[in-house]
Amino acid sequence: MAFIKINKDNYFYNLNECLKRVKDINKLIIILKDNAYGHDINIISDFALEFNVTYAAVKNQEEAQKIKDKFKNILILSQIPKYYEAKDNYVLAINDINYLNYVKKGDKIALKLDSGMHRSGINTHNLEDVLKLIKDKNLKLVSAFTHYSSPNNIKFQKPNYIKMKEYLEQNYDEELFFHSANSSTLFLGENDIDGAARVGLAQFGYCDVKANLKPVLSLWAEKISSRKIHKNDSIGYDEVFVSDDEFVAANYDLGYADGLLYYKGEGEVYLADDKSKILGKISMDSFSTYDLEDEVCVFDNALKYANYFNTNPYEALVRLNPNIKKIIV
Ligand SMILES: *Cc1c(COP(=O)(O)O)cnc(C)c1O
Repeated sequence: MAFIKINKDNYFYNLNECLKRVKDINKLIIILKDNAYGHDINIISDFALEFNVTYAAVKNQEEAQKIKDKFKNILILSQIPKYYEAKDNYVLAINDINYLNYVKKGDKIALKLDSGMHRSGINTHNLEDVLKLIKDKNLKLVSAFTHYSSPNNIKFQKPNYIKMKEYLEQNYDEELFFHSANSSTLFLGENDIDGAARVGLAQFGYCDVKANLKPVLSLWAEKISSRKIHKNDSIGYDEVFVSDDEFVAANYDLGYADGLLYYKGEGEVYLADDKSKILGKISMDSFSTYDLEDEVCVFDNALKYANYFNTNPYEALVRLNPNIKKIIV
């Protein structure tokens, strides 16, 4: 059976690298959305708890439910408000002014500030109306945050964020928790405005900018069968691989249903050993390669693996089927 190894030491090492830059553990928000980027939300939330993380963030209420007893605060990033049921430790991100029609008195909320990514959030022109609504409805505004579209765009968005932050500080009585940096912003040292960070990818060992981190996840497959291949034999669907040699091939138990990126037999994809090629198209539940060990590592570096498919480690990781067995090492 295929499996994933999760390296606990590397996870702690990465969190420590993040904490060196945030300094205060209460300002380090760990993003656990999408099954903790494919690493398993139960396992990773337990690790984070052991590291004394107090603040986590997830995509929606369903994910929040899974970690509800573990963290002092859980930021819910993209919950559709009409289905929302608040809890004491939930903080709902307000992605649009109309969310305020649904939230109830006493619900904790965080204002998402659109400083120039134009994906979601409240913009400068709405800020006054939003504050008025919050006061009228007696909502508990506890935080405000923005998100940068790229390292390059920080210089354009940051001044807008600063202006909105100042407006809120001057016009709202309670103290607010401000945060703006994701992984790459943190490792660029651009979290100086608020000192906080929302760390997703970096905890798992990758970052779009220079950072000294260690991959946490490796993906392993087990051999299903092997056979002798003769010259001119093809392997797999649509005969995209035809052998010009005689060798022994084997089939392993991971395919695109498990979240492997789809390989249609063009270009070359190597396993973690950097020398064994995937032969032919991958199938729904398996791929073929040379007759290697009974257990082979498909990738232990999601960036290298993602590069074969012109994508990024985010996609390579989140596509992994949550049902793949996890082994903590
Ligand atoms: C996913 C997400 C993050 C984490 O981004 P990384 O690049 O993985 O660190 C931070 N903030 C928001 C709003 C997000 O949606």
